[in-house]
Amino acid sequence: MKKRIILTTLSGILIAGSIFTSCTMNKPSAETAKAGITKQAWDKVDSQAVDLYTLTNKNGVEVKISNYGGKVTSWITPDKNGNKANVVLGFDSAKKYTPAVPYFGALIGRYGNRIAKGKFTLDGKTYTLATNNGVNHLHGGNKGYDKVVWTAGPTVDSVAALTLTYLSKDGEEGYPGNLKVTVKYTLTDADELKIEYTATTDKATPLNLTNHSYFNLSGDLTSPILDEEIQINADRYTPVDAALIPTGELKAVKGTPFDLTKPVKIGAHINEVPGKPVGYDHNFVLNVSDTTMHQAALVYDATSGRQLEVITTQPAIQFYTGNFLDGTLKLDNGKPINQHTAFCLETQHYPDSPNHPAFPSTVLKPGETFHSTTIYKITVRK
Ligand code: BGC
Repeated sequence: MKKRIILTTLSGILIAGSIFTSCTMNKPSAETAKAGITKQAWDKVDSQAVDLYTLTNKNGVEVKISNYGGKVTSWITPDKNGNKANVVLGFDSAKKYTPAVPYFGALIGRYGNRIAKGKFTLDGKTYTLATNNGVNHLHGGNKGYDKVVWTAGPTVDSVAALTLTYLSKDGEEGYPGNLKVTVKYTLTDADELKIEYTATTDKATPLNLTNHSYFNLSGDLTSPILDEEIQINADRYTPVDAALIPTGELKAVKGTPFDLTKPVKIGAHINEVPGKPVGYDHNFVLNVSDTTMHQAALVYDATSGRQLEVITTQPAIQFYTGNFLDGTLKLDNGKPINQHTAFCLETQHYPDSPNHPAFPSTVLKPGETFHSTTIYKITVRK
């Protein structure tokens, strides 16, 4: 009796299995890509082998990320006509990421953006950081998290997710404490690249983690981004001095070229932005600054129909329009990367917070766990 039940059950499973197989085989394969992750050996950095991972979702969107600096090296996604193109600046070889490359696609830490004169005082002690941007400290110093090799966690072939960890040692670039950082990248079937940051430390330290992807939604990385429309949900920004260090003031955007609260072409008021080289390179204070997920920015390119939404738990965002790109660096196809051919939307805390007690604190203490999440979502409006 028992045997017969087992046999019947088994044949049921076999029949169900073959129905399932024939159903999946009959599905139109062009529309449903095989979602997951693949890994390929890429290059050597500091005599360590680095890999390039390809994350694919069921819509066939493909994002490549390396454990070298956690760099997003390409993001291939369709336009409104279904034509796919890469929408981020990046290279096909790790060797092309020379020190002259300004953080394309990379993870940034320990402190993204600037710290004035590379100095801050914490719990009565003054720390001196590497100064790599004139007299100031930028994006973690001479060898920030963009230039180190991260350890990739185990991956599951059918899941488009990559976890990277890095132990930033006490004293690295001048920062206090051993900081353990984990970043998880997930490409969802809703066409989002979700970035989850976690960190713990054994000494109090300032912390400001972000990603430095440069987008050009047109998919033509040689064309300017000036006609793409931007909206940033920020009524205030942090004005800066000539060296891009915040003055400490939180200024209303109303009546200034920083009023991006309604969709406006990036190029519409770019020439009115004070400072040189021309362009936006400013921190916007988001209207929602609690730790829930909130929409920070929206960019739309009418020609391709692509739109980018930036959703985050962070209180601010740096909008940078590639002002320092000057044609010296070349794309893989040899064409120059010119000024204003890409923009960055770096979710973050305010720049130079360690020297501005009135800004929200960026200090992580031992026993605490830092968490933040940012989603970049690229879809098309038809
Ligand atoms: C900064 C710019 C800098 C760029 C590349 C941005 O986050 O705000 O001033 O030039 O990164 O380094």
